[in-house]
Amino acid sequence: MNSLQSNNQNIEELILSLRSSLERYNYEYYVLDKPSVDDIEFDRLMRQLDDLEKKYPQFDDVYSPTHRVGGEVNKEFNQVTHQYPMLSLSNTYSKEEIIDFVSRAEESLQKKNLQWVCELKYDGLAISLLYENGKLVRAATRGNGIVGDDVTSNIKTIKSIPLRLQDTDYPNKFEIRGEVIFPHEAFFEFNQKRIENGEEPFANERNAASGSLKLQNSSQVAERKLDCYLYYIIGDNLLQTTHATRLQAAKRWGFKVENYYSVVDGIDGIMHFITYWEKERERLPFATDGIVIKLNDTKYWNQLGATSKSPRWATAFKFKAEQAESKLLNVEYQVGRTGIITPVANFEPVWLGGTWVKRATLNNAEWMQKLNLCEGDTLIIEKGGEIIPKIVECKHDEELKKQGNLLPIQFITQCPQCGTILVNEEEQSGRYCPNYNHCQPQILGRFQHFISKRAMNIESLGGEKMRYLLHSGKVTDFVSLYSLTKWQIVGVYKIDEEHKISIQEKGAYNIIDAIEKSKNVPFERVLYALGIRYIGEVTAKTLARHFKNIKNIINATQEELQNVKDIGLTTAKSVFDYFHNEENLLQIDKLKTIGLNFEMANSQINDILQGKSFVVSGVFNTFTREGIKKAIEDNGGKNVSSLSSKTDFLLAGEKMGPEKRKKAEQLEIPIINEDEFIQMIQ
Ligand code: NAD
Repeated sequence: MNSLQSNNQNIEELILSLRSSLERYNYEYYVLDKPSVDDIEFDRLMRQLDDLEKKYPQFDDVYSPTHRVGGEVNKEFNQVTHQYPMLSLSNTYSKEEIIDFVSRAEESLQKKNLQWVCELKYDGLAISLLYENGKLVRAATRGNGIVGDDVTSNIKTIKSIPLRLQDTDYPNKFEIRGEVIFPHEAFFEFNQKRIENGEEPFANERNAASGSLKLQNSSQVAERKLDCYLYYIIGDNLLQTTHATRLQAAKRWGFKVENYYSVVDGIDGIMHFITYWEKERERLPFATDGIVIKLNDTKYWNQLGATSKSPRWATAFKFKAEQAESKLLNVEYQVGRTGIITPVANFEPVWLGGTWVKRATLNNAEWMQKLNLCEGDTLIIEKGGEIIPKIVECKHDEELKKQGNLLPIQFITQCPQCGTILVNEEEQSGRYCPNYNHCQPQILGRFQHFISKRAMNIESLGGEKMRYLLHSGKVTDFVSLYSLTKWQIVGVYKIDEEHKISIQEKGAYNIIDAIEKSKNVPFERVLYALGIRYIGEVTAKTLARHFKNIKNIINATQEELQNVKDIGLTTAKSVFDYFHNEENLLQIDKLKTIGLNFEMANSQINDILQGKSFVVSGVFNTFTREGIKKAIEDNGGKNVSSLSSKTDFLLAGEKMGPEKRKKAEQLEIPIINEDEFIQMIQ
């Protein structure tokens, strides 16, 4: 092999390896909503691949990630072919490249000082909304740009999206595109809850918004308080000929188009907009990852056209995540409700992203090890799309390094609160304290969870009063809550030097009343309230429906637990361990005697479709698509996404594709319509 051949082979290998990494990152980001690298690194690799493919066109490939919109479709949803492809945007982190982009457009159009619309780049998930005669008829995700998922019922839960338009001058049929976002505050609350439930928090707002729209149950989506900003109208025969007038019209019709955009002339206006929002974006109540510039006059859009991936009349300037340096002071370890230990770095206060920051999470043992954190390190702290600062890198003290005196900080081996030896979580990167019943922060966290609204709903008690009752020994376990009297609660209590709590007779009465009423809370919520690791609301519901009562769960083997839909090894083990602990069993016995619900009410049990699997296709009159799937599950049946010889029924709505019918007939699967289904469950 000559040197040219060998060089080519190396280049080809590098290109293939970059493609394979980028495809994996795309999958983690778009399908799992769990990226393993940050956007800057992803964009760097994408740029490297793009440059190589341009330099060595012999290795180019139309299927390369550089030529394709990165997302995927989700088989759980109906697929929608976009009338106009939903493309991505070219992007850059460099202001010089924005200048080049503008010059290229001016050259191609033979015009100077073009007018541009500068907008915020919302960091969420692209959505396309189709309106006919002023009504929302369909909402679809971008998917792979050509085909997306029909997420209409999930989108209808977002209150700022109009189902019916205002004013009258809208076209009969048009599409409007925008971004579904998770506002900071709602995201923070939501992630907090996940952490409390022992579930892994989402990395950022974008991934959480995307994960939310993939949910099959729209009522869960509704709880997440998503929002949607619109930025692009598309359709035949639109009256408005500039992008800005289209945005104004959209606002008039009732869409959320905030005044965050500006119409500017030439590059100076663009740079001014970038400089302003680089700082000001910190004040926004949602995440932005850059700004988008678009030619205002839409006749140029057709003239410039698009590549297979992005239009040539728009581009994005992406903000670098804000970083600051500070000296590490120490690492402290927090114990969560489920015993998870979270290392937190304390450092000298530093101004970052509009606030003083002096502590940031180190996530878990694995992350600490990856950073190779040592005593005396200088930390690089970042506040990017996420509102919670994180440590991305640490620099060792040069003097200590020279002397060979670097001291790596070892993750603790014992619980900082109760001294119990920590346990490594299988399949997870965390460590936890297994002293479930006797470790103080776990006990307090568990009680606060038990009384919370979505569990036993004894909210009038509140977290701080609960802390007092525990400290004073008036409450020792869940059972003792139920024997509290009004006069035991009344009083003024000192929490610390500055804080006192006063509980009057009326307040005490309300607490006792709420405790009494909690005996009516249904089984699935009682199961959730127990605070078993990895058992969030959804899993508690699944277990309750499957096993019907606590006795069946207690008697289930780990294998039987694992065979339940959506229950994995870790969750099955956690449930099994919980119900093989004598103290837990004793407590459940006592709670049963008090009158808490430990079995599904008869009205909740309906097994009529037990063991039957359904493929749902088409549109229904009485039910939404989600509604009919829920009805199947509520009656003990199972939804599957594609037909196979094991499918019991094809539930056919209107507009079901002929291919599906043909396949069902070939496999001799009974095809039933909506009326027949209703008769079945009645
Ligand atoms: P993008 O997010 O960089 O830009 C295009 C998108 O911006 C559009 O599809 C639209 O959804 C959105 N947008 C927001 N505000 C807008 C506005 N005002 N006007 C027009 N569009 C607006 O591109 P993408 O294709 O969605 O995602 C690619 C990017 O995602 C990559 O550049 C990378 O940063 C990130 N990514 C990261 C990973 C990872 O592993 N970290 C993996 C894949 C992708």
